[in-house]
Amino acid sequence: MPTNAELLARRNRTIGPYSPLFYTEPLQFVSAKGVWLTEASGEQYLDGYNNVPHVGHANDRVVRALSEQAATLNIHTRYLNERIYDYSEQLLATFDPVPGRPALDRVFYGNSGSEANELALRIARQHTGTTGLIVSDYSYHGTTITLAQMTTGLKTREPLGDHVRTLRIPDLDRDARPEEEVLAETLAELDAAIVSLQEAGYGVSACLFDPLFSTEGMPRVPSGLVSGIADRVRAAGGLVIADEVQSGFGRTGTHMWGHAYAGLTPDLVTMGKPMGNGHPMSAVVTSEAILDEFGSQNEFFNTFAGNPVSAAVGEAVLQEMAAEQLMARARILGAEARVALDEFVQEHHFVRSAKGAGMFLGLDFAVDGVAAPQIAKQVVEGMKARHVLISRIGPTESVLKVRPPLAFGERELPTLLSALQETLAEVVV
Ligand code: PMP
Repeated sequence: MPTNAELLARRNRTIGPYSPLFYTEPLQFVSAKGVWLTEASGEQYLDGYNNVPHVGHANDRVVRALSEQAATLNIHTRYLNERIYDYSEQLLATFDPVPGRPALDRVFYGNSGSEANELALRIARQHTGTTGLIVSDYSYHGTTITLAQMTTGLKTREPLGDHVRTLRIPDLDRDARPEEEVLAETLAELDAAIVSLQEAGYGVSACLFDPLFSTEGMPRVPSGLVSGIADRVRAAGGLVIADEVQSGFGRTGTHMWGHAYAGLTPDLVTMGKPMGNGHPMSAVVTSEAILDEFGSQNEFFNTFAGNPVSAAVGEAVLQEMAAEQLMARARILGAEARVALDEFVQEHHFVRSAKGAGMFLGLDFAVDGVAAPQIAKQVVEGMKARHVLISRIGPTESVLKVRPPLAFGERELPTLLSALQETLAEVVV
């Protein structure tokens, strides 16, 4: 096996040193199965972080579906092929009808979350004839120019677009004021952002946000916030886009889609990461009217998207979720984990709050009311020393990000929680 030093040198000479690596001393994985990864040293690590291998690393059903279809036919959507319609029917069946709203029953495919978000924005621009956008003030939605111009949650040299307004997302765990006051303040800020876009001549084409505000550090938002944002954006003529790249596919344990969990009724839903369990695929789900409007005015073709191999993989992911009841498992284990996290809040003065639901959980660290990213960093490294992978998020980087594959089981949860308990006991404030 090459040493870390050798690999780092080769990395820097080829793909460059700039895309971040996790950990002070990076990890070099050579294989994985289920929720366990094997490091070059031969040691096993528990995956408490990765959401792409949603139904488990190297899942048998997914690997079989992928290799069988790849060995049979892989072709684009300019020929008829039943597989992609089978998969589309199954995917669209996961969207529950919402009274008074058009059904989300049509889908465009892509190959990455970025592509899905870019397409959703293009659709919104054409639908509204405007370009103005509202996003949160600490978010990430992808790599394209349009998306870089609205990125606030990751380093980017691309300046924020003149047509973009950012909204501060409040966290009731960090704000002692009454919920209604915080809600009213945020919605007033949104109203001002909308007026500012209108006065500048951009109008409002869309708001785009992750219904769980994952990159933002999973703030506990006032109830009525996401629906309030959607109502105002719609009243201004804009469309509502839910970015489900992190929040979708049963992650919350109670709902297949984060928007349903959060009480949001979007016009467009974008998804990626877990959709193909590591095979690159993404989608924009929307209504018939919106698909017709865009489709009839644009010859939209995406070479790799919607191919039968991707369809086979996507179908296998949905089948595995159903066969292993992964959403229910996320609900049960997530609730169990949340009880333990809430206890850590009581036990340690530097744990400000517990975050999240289902299999998307965190702890926010603060000392004397000041966010403590140095503690989050210690804990992430301490968990690594105990062979458990997690990370941290949020504008202050003080929130732990525990977001394992949904295949995480009841045997693994005690391993993760006891590693966390031991690590927290060692924290130096
Ligand atoms: N949206 C969200 C919420 C994301 O977390 C990411 C990736 N981190 C993206 C979009 C972009 O997805 P991709 O990297 O597949 O282009």
